[in-house]
Amino acid sequence: MTKYVYTFGGKTAEGNASMKNELGGKGANLAEMCLLKLPVPAGLTITTECCTAYYQNNCQLPAGLMDEVHAGMRNMEQLMGMKYGDPDNPLLVSCRSGARKSMPGMMDTVLNIGLCSKTIPGLINKTHNERFVYDSYRRLIMMYADVVMEKAEGIEPADGKGIRKQLDDMLDAYKEAKGYESDTKLTTEDLMDLAERFKVRIKEVLGTEFPDDAEAQLEGGIKAVFKSWDGKKAVSYRRIEGIPDDWGTAVNVQAMVFGNMGDTSATGVAFTRDPATGDNKFYGEWLINAQGEDVVAGIRTPNPLNNDTKNEQNKDLKSMEELMPETYKELFEIRNILENHYKDMLDVEFTIQEGKLYMLQCRVGKRTGRAAVKMALDMHHDNWIDEKEAVLRVPADKIIELILPILDSNIEKQHKALAKGLPAGPGGSVGRIALTSEKAMEYKAAHVANILVREETNPEDVEGMRAANGILTARGGMTSHAALVARGWGKSCIVGCGEVHIDLDKKEVKIGAKSFKEGDIISLNGTAGAVYDVEMPLIIPEIEKDPLYQEFMGYVDKYRKMGVRTNADNPKDAANAVRFGAEGIGLFRIEHMFYGEDGQEPLKILRNMILTDTTEDREAALAELEPYMKESAKGTLKVMNGKPLTFRLMDPPLHEFVPKANEKEKIAALAKERGMSEDELVSRINALHEVNPMMGLRGVRLGIVYPEITETQFRALFTATAELMTEGFDPRLEIMVPLTINVKELEHQKAIADRVKKEVEAKFGVEISYLYGTMIEIPRATLVADKIAQLAQFFSFGTNDLTQMTFGFSRDDVNKIVKEYTKEGIIPADPFNTLDQEGVGQLVRLGVERGRSQRANLKCGVCGEHGGDPESVRFFYKTGMTYVSCSPFRVPVARLAAAQAAIEEDK
Ligand code: PEP
Ligand code: MG
Repeated sequence: MTKYVYTFGGKTAEGNASMKNELGGKGANLAEMCLLKLPVPAGLTITTECCTAYYQNNCQLPAGLMDEVHAGMRNMEQLMGMKYGDPDNPLLVSCRSGARKSMPGMMDTVLNIGLCSKTIPGLINKTHNERFVYDSYRRLIMMYADVVMEKAEGIEPADGKGIRKQLDDMLDAYKEAKGYESDTKLTTEDLMDLAERFKVRIKEVLGTEFPDDAEAQLEGGIKAVFKSWDGKKAVSYRRIEGIPDDWGTAVNVQAMVFGNMGDTSATGVAFTRDPATGDNKFYGEWLINAQGEDVVAGIRTPNPLNNDTKNEQNKDLKSMEELMPETYKELFEIRNILENHYKDMLDVEFTIQEGKLYMLQCRVGKRTGRAAVKMALDMHHDNWIDEKEAVLRVPADKIIELILPILDSNIEKQHKALAKGLPAGPGGSVGRIALTSEKAMEYKAAHVANILVREETNPEDVEGMRAANGILTARGGMTSHAALVARGWGKSCIVGCGEVHIDLDKKEVKIGAKSFKEGDIISLNGTAGAVYDVEMPLIIPEIEKDPLYQEFMGYVDKYRKMGVRTNADNPKDAANAVRFGAEGIGLFRIEHMFYGEDGQEPLKILRNMILTDTTEDREAALAELEPYMKESAKGTLKVMNGKPLTFRLMDPPLHEFVPKANEKEKIAALAKERGMSEDELVSRINALHEVNPMMGLRGVRLGIVYPEITETQFRALFTATAELMTEGFDPRLEIMVPLTINVKELEHQKAIADRVKKEVEAKFGVEISYLYGTMIEIPRATLVADKIAQLAQFFSFGTNDLTQMTFGFSRDDVNKIVKEYTKEGIIPADPFNTLDQEGVGQLVRLGVERGRSQRANLKCGVCGEHGGDPESVRFFYKTGMTYVSCSPFRVPVARLAAAQAAIEEDK
């Protein structure tokens, strides 16, 4: 029979840290902490496999599971010296989720399970603390109603009408009526009264009674945690993080210890090093007389753990180091034991029950990109990890945070911050205020930069947080879920900014002394925690002077074997990409010269070329266009001096350059400019119209139907090269043909190239050497790649089009379908972001293999968007690609992912 339950406690455990897949991160590490002989309350972990069985079984617990659980409970009872459901000496437990990969706050937890009318008197007798018992009871009722009775039952109340919110409102109203400022003022009688009122409300709203039975509570708690794997926020988070649906969550049932037993009890969260900067300082927050969720939910601004954790917001609050020096010392020692053992930064949760310390969780902690680099290097310098391990320690996506824009400090100096909060996520952000997640998503869809401003972000806000450029919250500490998630995503984020007051009804927010409407612009400095009412320019950090970045990327390049280039089509982007380590340009889209800063004039000429009927007129327009093309190519070739630059011949269908036939104003203006009637212009535009332009007259087909367009481009490119050669530069020209389906197309275009090259060489008296290659972006091309390689000197895989054509998904309007498909789990991820290795990946492999069967040293690269996606980069490395090419800011990401792929391969 499958073993579903693993016990831990009493300084021993059935599992260990290597069993994350089976026990989830939390369960595996609880077991490991027991093996390290740390003080951990006894418990049991139900495996992730059981979660999968639960879902396969129509949301029923597998037969026999509860028997296994009961056996585990007996073990726990023995170790703790208490008995679950016992009237005299009752044991209480928590039910907590724990997936393989941490999903902070995305799934549900129920604490204090086992409190009911049968066990309450016994617990009071034992603890002599009636208030504590009723405080725990009202917490159980609140959590249980929310998690087990509402969410797990699939009840979806309207916004703000959920049972938890209703009970919270009742609690607030009660405190207000009594004139209490905080929860700790509630008396035993108040808590008893509240518990009864809660139960009545629950029955009214949900139609069922809160179960007054320990056994029913336990089973309900376990099922609810499994159910929360499929909850809305967990599903959203998985989509964003690419966590597979079939992993499932484990459930940890653990003996409760209480941080809410009075002033000698407390609860807290800590990081073994500073998660924002990576500094080797113990960092944490705690609350006296509270339960765990109070800290991470960001409801109260917590106290600092020690002096190192003090900041502007909490400097007047007492630290644990000051108030409980002995316990702090013990915790500090545990910190050292854990770091020494795991050789990594961990985040831990702990509870102090009447002066005795218990560890409730430890896991490898989330950190900013800079902190990840700093810690990896520090641990390497301390000989904890070698260079390769240091390179593996930084998630490839995170390195981008070291090069991402920050607020211009010269401008920042000239302004006074409106308000200050905790610097939870570094970097700068500037954007319009969005007061709800929906608004942030709306802005994002319209490409409007925005800052999500919330009272406190709860995990329901994940999609809004993702959509926002920056996040600002009024409440919460550095360890609140908002901070963890934002840090994980590299967003600039400020939390616990007490001077933020939101009026959602009026869609207004007051920050410091100033009022704003939703849509007004603010700037955040997430590294310093400062908010400004000015639209500040963002600047690129000086990586050349950043020793952390330089040392780390040095190791990256030491182990990297695959090349990294960039997609750029102007001198500025090209120069930037070279700073980021690009070794060449893998894709210069010629047509981008018409969209860029100086695109107006050439666009006008291009339109003339497109809208004429005769070859003669077209040639005249092209002759006018040629110098612009030459200058555009020359500028970037000059910047790339000595490094290869792959130009791609014009690709898009021509109608993209003229207004749509229904854009009346634009049509009128263009007709006037060209001296033709609007009717005439519309009929010309209609003639260009194609039913499916993505499969129509574009790419090399354009150059075959209109060879004069190809000729102009070759002449411009060869002339730019010849001029630079005569000026003493070293242009490394490569030209590729897009959308190829067979070698005949390449021959056709090459004949034009040969003729034009000779003419230019004669004119300048130089000999031009260049590489002639092709894009591989139509499935057919991968199948006949050996024949294509007879002529092509290099391949560049256009995985955007290859994905489009392999799936039959149009790039332009497939978003809605892809969203639905990923939601339904029909495809695991958006194939335009992360390469579909199963399908498109086979074609890529085939293309490389067949190409090299003809030309052994064929240079192969990727220039689709996947070239900057870490998971895809790893795959491309395995296919034997010579290089990947991506947008300038992703170059360090691709370098790191390529190095990690090489290191992993050698392992
Ligand atoms: C591609 O198709 O992957 C590619 C790089 O070309 P474009 O995106 O310009 O079609
Ligand atoms: Mg393409």
